[in-house]
Amino acid sequence: MRYIEPHGHMVSRVTDDYLDMVTAGCACVCEPAFWAGYDRSSVNGFHDYFCQLTDYEPKRAAKFGLPHFCWLCINPKESEDVKLAEEVVAIIPQFLERPNVLGIGEIGLNKNSRNEMKVLEMHVDLAARQNQLILVHTPHLEDKLKGTRLIVDVIKSDRRIQPDRVIIDHVEEHTIKLVRDAGFWAGMTLYPESKCSPARAIDLLENYGSDRLWLNSACDWGVSIPLNVPYTALEMKRRGWSAEDIDKVIYQNPIQFLSQCKKFKLPKG
Ligand SMILES: [Zn+2]
Repeated sequence: MRYIEPHGHMVSRVTDDYLDMVTAGCACVCEPAFWAGYDRSSVNGFHDYFCQLTDYEPKRAAKFGLPHFCWLCINPKESEDVKLAEEVVAIIPQFLERPNVLGIGEIGLNKNSRNEMKVLEMHVDLAARQNQLILVHTPHLEDKLKGTRLIVDVIKSDRRIQPDRVIIDHVEEHTIKLVRDAGFWAGMTLYPESKCSPARAIDLLENYGSDRLWLNSACDWGVSIPLNVPYTALEMKRRGWSAEDIDKVIYQNPIQFLSQCKKFKLPKG
């Protein structure tokens, strides 16, 4: 089996996870910027985090032979402080040329507040000006449908952004159609307790088809399973999916989306 982990928060994982992922056939990992479990107190905290994502973490992954890419932003959970967000957005361009940076993400909404909306618009503008791909986080549970609609409206209203250069992550049964009908890619996050379970994700794939879709484990500091993409692939096989169809979802689809960034290349062989 070969697969890509397109959304994994590796800074919160141990080296055993890297070893297990590579052993299971992981060909590369992509790490969006996210909330660290606490609010950072100043722009310097983000500066250091962006250095970690673009310098230290790729070296740690390389020790296991795993290519590491990342996305940069101030995440929605820390977007209430608009002044801090402005400072963070201002330092992002100095990191965008680094070799493992794929784009702006994971931006989006958490509580669907007015300030989060402002910061979302700031990021979309930054991505448009810098011609960057976008990775979007959608809110949890009861806020998800409303938040997804707001996000789709904000991105759609910026004519500089091509929808097929945007992936909206954490879709579920009630948001997948909305996202793909608007021309975006959709991500399904395989969590043991919330978001999509492997069984629900496969039901969605069987009902809606597997175009413009990827699977990820998120594997952050909360309850999550770094091997949930290959575990889901095994479940697909059990349900009668062909090796080719599984490969499309867990390997070829992420490559198709991510290759829109020229820096995304996998080593040959
Ligand atoms: Zn995430």
